[in-house]
Amino acid sequence: MTHFSFELTHRDAGSLARRGVFVTPHGPVQTPGFMPVGTQGTVKGVTIDQVAATGAHMILGNTYHLALRPGHETVRKLGGLHGMTRWEGPILTDSGGFQVFSLDAINHVDEEAATFRSHLDGSIVRLTPEHSIEIQESLGSDVAMVLDHVVALPAEKDIVQDAMERSIRWARRCLESATRDDQAKFAIVQGGLDVELRIQCARELAAMDFEGFAVGGLSVGEPPTEMYRITEATTPELPENKPRYLMGVGTPVDLIESVARGIDLFDCVMPTRNGRNGLAFTDSGSIKLRNAVHREDTSPLQESCPCIACRHSRGYLRHLFHAKEMLGPILLSIHNLTYYQQVMAETRAAIEQNRFNQYVAEKKQGWGIDA
Ligand SMILES: [Zn+2]
Repeated sequence: MTHFSFELTHRDAGSLARRGVFVTPHGPVQTPGFMPVGTQGTVKGVTIDQVAATGAHMILGNTYHLALRPGHETVRKLGGLHGMTRWEGPILTDSGGFQVFSLDAINHVDEEAATFRSHLDGSIVRLTPEHSIEIQESLGSDVAMVLDHVVALPAEKDIVQDAMERSIRWARRCLESATRDDQAKFAIVQGGLDVELRIQCARELAAMDFEGFAVGGLSVGEPPTEMYRITEATTPELPENKPRYLMGVGTPVDLIESVARGIDLFDCVMPTRNGRNGLAFTDSGSIKLRNAVHREDTSPLQESCPCIACRHSRGYLRHLFHAKEMLGPILLSIHNLTYYQQVMAETRAAIEQNRFNQYVAEKKQGWGIDA
């Protein structure tokens, strides 16, 4: 019996955008969809009920952080991520590979494992593909990501190719070591900014029995046009009938540009991280709430936004930030998460109505981005 299915319910007539439903043991995920990031078993500053109220279907947990603290055995004893957090919807966990890369904690990758230094106590940890899956099985997420070898860009082709080929071998080891059939495994396409390598990687992974596929190693500082070029070259090589996830992306315009190139799922810290720093996303672009121009502004962040932050004026929200009240970052995180979910809901509707390109043009005009 399979616990997972992915049904494409509509394809946009003018782009590669797809409308679908990804069914997991903890319920369906409407795609295209955005996953808020809950690094430490919490979407920072936001309760699970508030996360659900933003319209999120699925959230993400970080294997690296949870394995170091409180430890995956502790999470398992607390009922897994679902039991511990009481989030009742689907959860995806990453493999730890990207965190090791992005925290610059890595000191060695060999064929067997990634070896790194814990940012908590400095101890040496060796993460093998098998160990990453074992940890994610203890966390009990609905979707486990394979351990991949991420390299900093730009890099020489032989370095990118070596890491890409290792990522394929590690993906197979993850698949072979997995024991839970109620946990989907997603492979990760690597290959840097090299289209040939990306296509080769996508084809080799697509031949294996994964429930979904991710495009990884992007959004690491390259220009957005490069990310779009690689995404566009990769998605046609992936199975039509499996979900496609662009990892760690991005701004609202990155999301819709990538949907137009055939991506179904996203995650990013942007709405919450920016929210904590006083930056709000709106239909007229992003707003720096600390600026003096908002001092006596009685309007909400976004007219017609249903979130609890938008009951308040920009002037009040600005005051909360200047007074260093914790409610400011909380409210802005909620607003930004709600805004991202609104964009995804509008995206799904626009695809169903075959007017996705028009929708993209309208949004970009509002955000002040040239077509
Ligand atoms: Zn709002």
